[in-house]
Amino acid sequence: MRPKLVVGNWKMNGSRAANAMLLTGILEGLQDAKAASAVCVPAPYLHQCQDILTGSALAWGAQDVSCQQPGAYTGEVCASMLQDFGCRYVIVGHSERRAYHGETNELVARKAQSALDAGLTPIVCVGETLVQREAGQTMEVVGAQLDAVLAQVGPAAVGKLVVAYEPVWAIGTGKTATPAMAQEVHAALREKLRACNAEAAENVLVLYGGSMKPDNAADLMAQPDIDGGLIGGAALKAADFLAIIEAAS
Ligand code: 13P
Repeated sequence: MRPKLVVGNWKMNGSRAANAMLLTGILEGLQDAKAASAVCVPAPYLHQCQDILTGSALAWGAQDVSCQQPGAYTGEVCASMLQDFGCRYVIVGHSERRAYHGETNELVARKAQSALDAGLTPIVCVGETLVQREAGQTMEVVGAQLDAVLAQVGPAAVGKLVVAYEPVWAIGTGKTATPAMAQEVHAALREKLRACNAEAAENVLVLYGGSMKPDNAADLMAQPDIDGGLIGGAALKAADFLAIIEAAS
């Protein structure tokens, strides 16, 4: 049995005051949680997470990372900086970065490699658009997204990845993939992981993301290949985030 993991992706939300309330609220309710949990926050708030969360059960991480080493890359944040602020995780290849910042499969793969090189766990996001799903291209699209990362990091690193399946049409829309739809893709992703490293693949956590809420989380996470959630909107309310962690426990 794989352990469950629930990760909040705050996206570009937060303020020092709001974060302090949210994190304190989560910590208060986290006492008996069995599932592992983390928040991925905007880079300026990593220091605040380190201050508030060090020694707690809630891990933290970033939402993006440069594929470069320190140097002349204005505006970028490299993996060693994230590590310096105590991050355990970094999201790479979120569909919003692919769509609004032109991130390609190859760039995402290099970002995953940078994260691994700094000892961070990359949360590799894959997912198809509605047009791609309706054209029957889901497996082809998510397969190519995952393959690019596997080709870059190699079989020995498979066990160090977290994968997140986030159908683009389900993100922030209130439309969730049914548990069966999500399971079908998760199983296919695990097959790809197995083809790269059969043993390690059994322990890789494959999270689902896309309008996961307290009322649908348990059904999704009851599927054999759904090992947790990557939560957007519902991660911004302590009660909802805690309810999802509870559903994973
Ligand atoms: P929502 O939960 O708001 O649909 O966002 C999902 C997501 O993109 C998490 O990375």
